Amino acid sequence: MIEVRDMIKNHVRYVIGNGKHISIWYDKWCEQGPLCEYITRRTIFDARLEDSMKVADMFNEGKWNWPSEWMINFLNIGKIDIPSWQDDKKDKVQWFTNKNLLMDFSTKQAWEDLRIDNPSVGWCKVVWFNQMVPRHAFILWLAMQGRLMTQDRMEKWQTNGTLFCTFCQAGPDSHEHLFFQCPYTMEIWDCMRKMTNLQNVSYRMDNSVQEIAENKVQNNIGMVVCKLVLAASVTIFGKKGIIDCSRRKKEMGMNYARALSIMLG
Ligand SMILES: [Zn+2]
Repeated sequence: MIEVRDMIKNHVRYVIGNGKHISIWYDKWCEQGPLCEYITRRTIFDARLEDSMKVADMFNEGKWNWPSEWMINFLNIGKIDIPSWQDDKKDKVQWFTNKNLLMDFSTKQAWEDLRIDNPSVGWCKVVWFNQMVPRHAFILWLAMQGRLMTQDRMEKWQTNGTLFCTFCQAGPDSHEHLFFQCPYTMEIWDCMRKMTNLQNVSYRMDNSVQEIAENKVQNNIGMVVCKLVLAASVTIFGKKGIIDCSRRKKEMGMNYARALSIMLG
């Protein structure tokens, strides 16, 4: 369901009438949105703004009223166009099609846009299999498409140089860095490789997935464990909550390594 919800969210657009019913943080009403992907609740709170604010609440006397420090820290904020306001016009929810057209919602169009008719990729059997942990599979699926909210994607919004890989602090993290070029995650991944049948796979996640997919036998116990370990590793390092939580970073990683060692005997 979460997967479907995310797919639908990508198609929903909020068209401003008077801006009184559209959440400024959580709805996608501008090209750069939704703003909650970049502006955290903590940042909103620190600026003494409300979580429940509507778009109209940030507008005053014909211009945006963003906190002044945001204009430096979040460059894209300054690029948000001023909408054409009409006090007597209602806000509207519209459907954004795969062909980049904005239209009123219809179940027919939604079905056309959401049904998956792409040819399956070779690595899908490494991500989706009978014994998978659905949550881990979903995170791995996102990671394979470079769609996790890593710091290199957030960096274009935050220019104050405060983004560092939680594990090594060497610079902003990225898919490539986290899986598994970072010295810290690489060390743990190396342990995992040695404990399973993954000794010969690459240190890069995308290559590892491709290499596992090339095995003719996918369903024996050894291969299933390998796939479970890979997805669990990507989840533990890719999970934003963990990446953001520097206080627990190494403890989490080590507890995870310990738990997996016990599981693998
Ligand atoms: Zn790192």
